[in-house]
Parts: sequence; structure tokens; C-alpha cells
Amino acid sequence: QTIGAFFDAMVERQPEHEALVSVHQGRRYTYRSLQAEAQRLASALLGLGLAVGDRVGIWSHNNAEWVLMQLATAKVGLVLVNINPAYRTSEVEYALNKVGCKALVTMPRFKTSDYLGMLRELAPELATSAPGALQAARLPELRTVVWIDVAGEGADEPGVMRFSDLLASGRAGDTRLPAIGAALRVNDPINIQFTSGTTGFPKGATLTHRNILNNGFFIGECMQLTPADRLCIPVPLYHCFGMVLGNLACLTHGATIVYPNDGFDALSVLQTVQAERCTGLHGVPTMFIAELDHPRFAEFDLSTLRTGIMAGSPCPIEVMKRVVDQMHLSQITIAYGMTETSPVSCQSSTTTPLEKRVSTVGQVQPHLEVKIVHPETGAVVGRGESGELCTRGYSVMHGYWGDEAKTREAIDAEGWMHTGDLATMDAEGYVNIVGRIKDMVIRGGENVYPREIEEFLYRHPKVQDVQVVGVPDARFGEELCAWIVPRPGQQITEDEIRDFCKGQIAHYKVPRYLRFVDGFPMTVTGKIQKFKIREAMKDQLG
Ligand code: ATP
Ligand code: MG
Repeated sequence: QTIGAFFDAMVERQPEHEALVSVHQGRRYTYRSLQAEAQRLASALLGLGLAVGDRVGIWSHNNAEWVLMQLATAKVGLVLVNINPAYRTSEVEYALNKVGCKALVTMPRFKTSDYLGMLRELAPELATSAPGALQAARLPELRTVVWIDVAGEGADEPGVMRFSDLLASGRAGDTRLPAIGAALRVNDPINIQFTSGTTGFPKGATLTHRNILNNGFFIGECMQLTPADRLCIPVPLYHCFGMVLGNLACLTHGATIVYPNDGFDALSVLQTVQAERCTGLHGVPTMFIAELDHPRFAEFDLSTLRTGIMAGSPCPIEVMKRVVDQMHLSQITIAYGMTETSPVSCQSSTTTPLEKRVSTVGQVQPHLEVKIVHPETGAVVGRGESGELCTRGYSVMHGYWGDEAKTREAIDAEGWMHTGDLATMDAEGYVNIVGRIKDMVIRGGENVYPREIEEFLYRHPKVQDVQVVGVPDARFGEELCAWIVPRPGQQITEDEIRDFCKGQIAHYKVPRYLRFVDGFPMTVTGKIQKFKIREAMKDQLG
């Protein structure tokens, strides 16, 4: 089924059930009202002259308009292009032109980001063009810019269309929609998402209905979602985590989507879970850490929480344990995946024994294949041995948009996606992510997995967060370096860390360089960019 058809069937089943709460906008939708607005929006998008296969960008934080765009574009076969709100002019110019977006929906501004300002800088022609008729030298394909009036009271913006006006231009019961919907195919591209840029430049992964709808469904199955669930989603929608593990997992199970805020803010998450009686909470590890360590954490009643997903980057066992013990998330699961695989390949389910649930990323999802191979020879390695994780099945992307060569590098002739992640699989099929091939450190001929040392250092009571990278070294090829964020109010010395390591881990795993820092270079998703830590160390060490 296509996303539109699946959603319509769910609306039939429970029209009056709550589908979406956008807390920061003070808005609520039932399944029926969400469908009605999405259909009106789909009609309005056709009115802009957009047709099946055209790309439409969304450059915004989480809000109700985002889901409406997700549903409306799916309904009429437009390809939604998720653009990271942290992108600045040159990045947004690249993204829009790379995939040829004809329309763009954005927020006018957010905190210090002036989105319309950046667009006007790129396309001064906006000021004098009629809405829908833009001809800009630097954005040659873009015709229409729409801005979301998040709070519903902003002043008019010259040259650009207000989202509410766009919506109003659509017809309820537009008779073109059923015919277009029926003609769409499950393998049609529906979404382009850029990877996080953790290891370098982001790549645009083209995903189909079949890719993301199936993945959303099976993720929800692992979490045992039902219509009684209310899932708090502070993770961004412009990545799969929010859009698939959040939105689609909920909509395929008749559950309720809850957005606490537009940009991440730990306090509003805690407030929202309590006020909306959420049963689920998603997050990357750094978000959960920020919530747990919030000075007002103890004030909130989180007893309604049951499940959720931690994913996106290595999920330290210590953090998982705190989340289970202190946030009532006894059925939290870890998921492992990547943008190119829609995203989830492995997930622990709520029924996985706790010890396995906190210490592995679970087992392969139904109807997918996973194998772990020697990175050079491609031969499948033995159980417990580490190698590159490869996956095949419904979840593997269509390809990188407009980049045949990169696609062929990533997906081999037999359809296996090579993830670039190092993993092990135990006898029962539980998978552990050991690290990224690019992050593995070879010190004096010994392979060292930074992840293992990070897990060890997390156990130090004064350590809040830690990252380990390799830095070039004339003698050993590479040396280890740890960046450590101390717990609030704590002072740590190098000697304390070295004493802690002594006799506990092999001498060659003890980091040669230690740095105490306030935080790490991150993508706005909260993913730590180790390549930037490596670069900073290279500069420091000369
Ligand atoms: P880029 O490909 O641009 O460098 P990225 O790989 O971080 O960025 P994403 O597709 O958002 O972009 O992230 C997928 C990656 O995140 C995986 O390949 C893996 O390295 C990491 N990851 C995801 N989930 C987990 C997890 N549960 N445990 C460990 N690592 C994870
Ligand atoms: Mg990647």
C-alpha cells in the first residue's frame, strides 16, 4: 500500500481518535481532522502546478504543518525533501538545487535563524516576484516559497505565501485526489533525506512508500504500539528518526503523535510527558542525558511512560539503565539504522530480556536480512567476530539522488547495502554495533574500538559524557584521545582517569591524550561529529 492508502484506512477505523498534539502550537487533531487538512493541502499543492514526482522541500523544525506536508505530498506523489533547519545559505542552496525543488515550505525565523532572510539573500528576486512565479538565478528550479506562521499571528511577509493561505486555496473533496492516489505505486520515490553528515558531507537518500511505510509499521510492532499510546517526539522530523520511527510508527498503529517543542528543549519534554500523559518517548542518547540531568527532573511525574526508542548513535548501557530506572521506560528499546535503510535494520523489542535490551541493538527486523562480513574479503565472519554490517530487503533505499556512482558503491549487485558500521552478532542473533569503520583506531597494529573505551570511561562517577578518537602518531600510527565532559560541578584530573584505567583495560587502550571539555561538536540531531574532534586534535598537536 502507499502511505496515503494506509492512512485513509486507519482514519476509517478510528476517525475521532486523537492523531496529533502539537504542544508548542497549542493544536490538536483527530485522525479525521488530520486527514481533512492533509487532503485540502494536497489539493492546494496541485493548485501550485506541482505534479507527481516533483520535489518539494521542507526546511523547518517540528510542527503540525510538517506532518500535514508529509501526508499531503504522499497523497499526490510529490517527493518531500527534508531539509535540516541548521542548514545555512550555501547548504540550502546545495540541497534545493541538488534535487531540483520546485517549492519550499519554511519557517520565517526561529531563535537566531532567519530562514526567510537567508532565502532573500539567495534569491533577491523573491521581493518582486508574484507568489508561485519565482525566477531566481541561484535557485533556478524554485517557483514557490511558503512560510509557516507557527504561532498564527505573524505579520505578512512580502513575496512569499503564508501556509494558511496555501491551505485555504485547496478544495475539500478535490476529485483529482482519488485518481492520483490510485495511480501511485509503492516503489515510487516519496522522500529524499540527507544523511546526518557525521562522517562528512550529507548525501541525499531517495526513499519510497514501500521503504518507509513498512519500516514505520515494523518499528511500531517492536514497541507494541496501540491506539492507547501517546508518543512524545522531541527528535527532529527532518531525519528518519522523527518522520519514520515517530510519525509513521504512530500513524500505522493508530497511536497519538505528541510534539513537545520545535527545537529540542529538555524541560519542555518533561513538562509535555507529564501534561499529555505520554506512554512513549524517543530520543538520541544526548537528549535522554539532558532530561535525566535536568535540575528540575525530580519534579515531574513520568509514571505514564512505558516505551520509546533510543537510537541514532551508540547508546551507552549506563544511560539505558538510568532511563529504565529513573524514567519508567521499562520497555524502552534500542534501534539501529541509517537514513539509507529507511532507517531501522535491527531493533530490540519490548519482549527482549532487559540485559540484552540495554546491551545490544536487538535482532534483525522481520523481512530483512543482515549479514556481517569481513570489510576487505566480503566473507561472512563467525558469530561474535566483528565485521561490516550489510543489510538487504524492503528497507534499502532507491539510491542516492542523482548519484549513480555513490549508489553503486553503497549497494552491491546483489542488493546488499554496505553500512560502513562495524558490528558483531551473537549466537541468538543479537547485534552489537562496535563502531564505524572510519572511526576504528589502529594503534601499533592493534585494532581499538573507541566505543569500548567510551563504555568503560562512562563508569567513572565524575564522567558525564566521553568521546574517544584516534589521532595520528609518528610512532604508533595512531594514538587514542579522549574528550571528557565532567558531571556538573565536578573537577577531574588526568591522573584520576589514568588511575581508573590502570589494571582495568589493556595499556594500549588507555588514552594517551585527555581533554576536559564542555561539549562536543555536533550535528543538530545531537550526533557527535568525531571527524571534527579529530581535526581539532590535529590542530592542537600540530
Ligand atoms: P553520514 O552518513 O552523513 O556521515 P550518519 O551516518 O550519521 O551521517 P545517519 O544516516 O543519520 O547519518 O546515521 C546512521 C548512522 O548512525 C549509522 O550508520 C550508525 O553509525 C549510527 N547509529 C545509528 N543507530 C545506532 C545505534 N543504535 N548504535 C550505534 N550507532 C548507531
Ligand atoms: Mg552514514
